[in-house]
Amino acid sequence: MTTLFISDLHLDQHRPDLMAAFIQFLKSHAKDAEKLYILGDFFEVWLGDDFVPPFLQAAIDALADLSIEKYVMHGNRDFLLGDRFCRLTGAVLLEDPTVIDLYGTPCLLMHGDSLCTKDVEYMQVRKMLRDPAFQADFLTKTVEERIAFATSAREQSKAHTGEMSTEIMDVTPDEVTLAMSEAGVNLMIHGHTHRPDSHQLTVNDSPAIRMVLGDWDKAAWYIETSEGEPPRLTSIDLT
Ligand code: MN
Repeated sequence: MTTLFISDLHLDQHRPDLMAAFIQFLKSHAKDAEKLYILGDFFEVWLGDDFVPPFLQAAIDALADLSIEKYVMHGNRDFLLGDRFCRLTGAVLLEDPTVIDLYGTPCLLMHGDSLCTKDVEYMQVRKMLRDPAFQADFLTKTVEERIAFATSAREQSKAHTGEMSTEIMDVTPDEVTLAMSEAGVNLMIHGHTHRPDSHQLTVNDSPAIRMVLGDWDKAAWYIETSEGEPPRLTSIDLT
């Protein structure tokens, strides 16, 4: 039995190929797995559980049909995924961060955006977007108003990230060490940065590993592990 991790699919109506790849991934890989973890940015945008974009219904149906344990974590684009989404899909929402027992090894799961602390402006925006009062107010708005807000936020974000050095958009190494040390783990898995890789580091004088999932664009990235098998980062070519 295997456990699978994916993140950053950024599913939306402009990429029907990624929707098809996700549905295929569930059929070919996840169907016989034990657990599937989706570590954020499953959707390019999620405006609230009361408004399911018609295009995304296929992803919800496919997840609902998958009869294994399913876990989902908020990303910076789909942080409004809530109880109704969980009921529709049968997925369990995980806090960011969460520590799981991965076949006897404690493993820290995060989306990853909270580790990018050098991007001071983004960290402030994040604080606002994750504020329950802001979210409650946002959900009282009409769908048209929410779309207008999301569109303008995305344009500002694009203008902002375009100006920044690539170093700023990656995780802050000290923040990684701190998060792992506080969680008491030597293994972590996250996404967000779109830099799929496996990094060796030292945490509390012990060797540790930080695994980074990739975004689904040219390839479908995932991490696979099973009892006695260390987690392995791999990908399926989508080109
Ligand atoms: Mn992200």
